[in-house]
Amino acid sequence: MNIIVCIKQVPGSTEVKINPDTGTLMRDSVEAVVNPFDEYAIEEALQIKEKHGGVVKVITMGPPQAESALREAVAMGCDEAILVSDKAFAGSDTWATSYTLSKAIESLGETNLIICGKQAIDGDTAQVGPGVAEMLDIPFVAWVRKIEEISDTTMKVERLMEDGYEVVEMPLPGLITVVKDINQPRMASLKGKLRAKKAEIKVITASDLTVEESKIGLTGSPTQVLRSFVPEKKTGGEKIEGEVPDLVKKITDTILEMKIIK
Ligand SMILES: Cc1cc2nc3c(=O)[nH]c(=O)nc-3n(C[C@H](O)[C@H](O)[C@H](O)COP(=O)(O)OP(=O)(O)OC[C@H]3O[C@@H](n4cnc5c(N)ncnc54)[C@H](O)[C@@H]3O)c2cc1C
Repeated sequence: MNIIVCIKQVPGSTEVKINPDTGTLMRDSVEAVVNPFDEYAIEEALQIKEKHGGVVKVITMGPPQAESALREAVAMGCDEAILVSDKAFAGSDTWATSYTLSKAIESLGETNLIICGKQAIDGDTAQVGPGVAEMLDIPFVAWVRKIEEISDTTMKVERLMEDGYEVVEMPLPGLITVVKDINQPRMASLKGKLRAKKAEIKVITASDLTVEESKIGLTGSPTQVLRSFVPEKKTGGEKIEGEVPDLVKKITDTILEMKIIK
């Protein structure tokens, strides 16, 4: 079974500044980590491989430094690592990211299953997994919490819902996005870390893919960030102290002043 895991390198902190001109995140100044949800995707792929055999490839689209995220995935046990990186891809929104990733995945040959995290903790849109599936024209199930059965051509999964779960069967090739209930990601072993240090990272650039220039990077991104801002901090409120009759009067006076009720 050929499995591809899509991972994203994200800031390990919420203290990320936003470029006022482009509305994009300025990621250079903070430590970068593998998107936590993608660790569950990696673990699930490795468990499938351990039971059914096959190859697990890990892919990310990002700047050259995203290579370290791929090495972490190799240290956990992934067999091959692919970095999709080119200045032409810079500024991609979720649509252009999904388009570029789908083209890169196509270029890697036959794949039975693609696994993504449920969402990235920085962009937070949860659009890339479904976007890749749409662009590859393959079925997908989002928010998978358990794989009940899997073969090269079909799988049965439990999909988390707000009020329970659904059991869904889908043909493969297909794509799933996974939630954290699905497994407990392993720690990389020392042997894995040593292998990851030396692992060859395949780099895919725009000229390696049959992509339409009008669909990649900032110019190929239909989303436009018009304004980004930090929401105003709420004040701590007013603490009213005293005896109950005084408190009741103060509270009712305040409510009347606010004209919430007449
Ligand atoms: C106009 C615009 C410009 C932007 N410019 C930039 C920019 O210059 N630099 C930048 O870093 N971001 C940029 N972004 C943000 C970028 O579009 C998103 O970070 C990216 O598309 C992923 O979306 P998300 O973070 O919401 O991921 P989600 O959709 O929440 O991620 C879901 C899952 O998809 C997979 N996934 C997501 N992203 C990737 C990836 N890159 N590679 C492999 N798998 C992935 C992972 O499995 C992840 O768990 C821009 C966004 C907009 C709207």
